[in-house]
Amino acid sequence: MPQKACTVSLLASTPDAMSLIYAAFRQCYHAGFVGDMWPRLVAGEISREKQGEFIAKIMESGHTSPIEHVSFTFAVEGVSRALTHQLVRHRIASYSQQSQRYVDGSDFDYILPPAIARIPEARERFEAFMREVGSAYKDLKELLETKGRGAKAKEDARFVLPQAAESKIVFTMNCRSLINFFEHRCCARAQWEIRGMANDMLAMCREVLPVIFETAGARCERLGFCPEGEKFTCGRYPLP
Ligand SMILES: Cc1cc2nc3c(=O)[nH]c(=O)nc-3n(C[C@H](O)[C@H](O)[C@H](O)COP(=O)(O)OP(=O)(O)OC[C@H]3O[C@@H](n4cnc5c(N)ncnc54)[C@H](O)[C@@H]3O)c2cc1C
Repeated sequence: MPQKACTVSLLASTPDAMSLIYAAFRQCYHAGFVGDMWPRLVAGEISREKQGEFIAKIMESGHTSPIEHVSFTFAVEGVSRALTHQLVRHRIASYSQQSQRYVDGSDFDYILPPAIARIPEARERFEAFMREVGSAYKDLKELLETKGRGAKAKEDARFVLPQAAESKIVFTMNCRSLINFFEHRCCARAQWEIRGMANDMLAMCREVLPVIFETAGARCERLGFCPEGEKFTCGRYPLP
């Protein structure tokens, strides 16, 4: 039952992403058919710089639906159920999460919050509780198995697992949803664990598609001021 840390992997992203976004934008303003333009686009006949400039200009206008055609798929492990519960609140996405009904939780891993790790007595109490939960899970699973619940025992024993229990999840978001996700979750107001994951994801997105993600992140990064108000501001940027 070890402590785990977050790992983010970028599994896939839409190929020819920049050309695809450019084509989608162009179709909105072009009398011709972008299907005819597509082979020239992917062959690089219209330079990436020109495509990038066009995309950046249109994005500024707020016409952002064409970026929905490009998606990123991430696999994440070493995160708590507390994190994944927040993550799946983002509805414009697809999720596949490790099941606690089918995967045995007897030796579950857990996430130790750094603030608890820094206080020896708090850490000791936390870890003792994790051991107690593991022991209760095993007892309940065994009792349920012997009393006729069979393979369904895990389904009920999992009710004692904590929010700290480690989870693994695969999810896909399009660029527009990702920008919204980063605005919420890269902000200092977001919880530390999901903020760390969001910052890792943002770095990966920037590497693949800088034209879209260079200015993504907490809203203050783009605005140059903090829109969270006096009560919630972290102070990194001035209030408007
Ligand atoms: C700091 C922080 C604190 C939070 N605290 C709480 C809390 O205490 N309790 C709680 O329940 N949640 C809380 N949340 C979750 C938050 O309310 C959102 O549910 C979550 O961030 C998902 O954001 P979203 O709806 O923008 O994303 P998505 O679900 O991906 O939606 C993307 C966008 O699509 C549009 N949209 C989607 N669905 C609808 C709809 N049904 N109607 C209209 N427009 C829609 C909206 O414009 C939305 O921004 C918190 C989030 C943060 C960042």
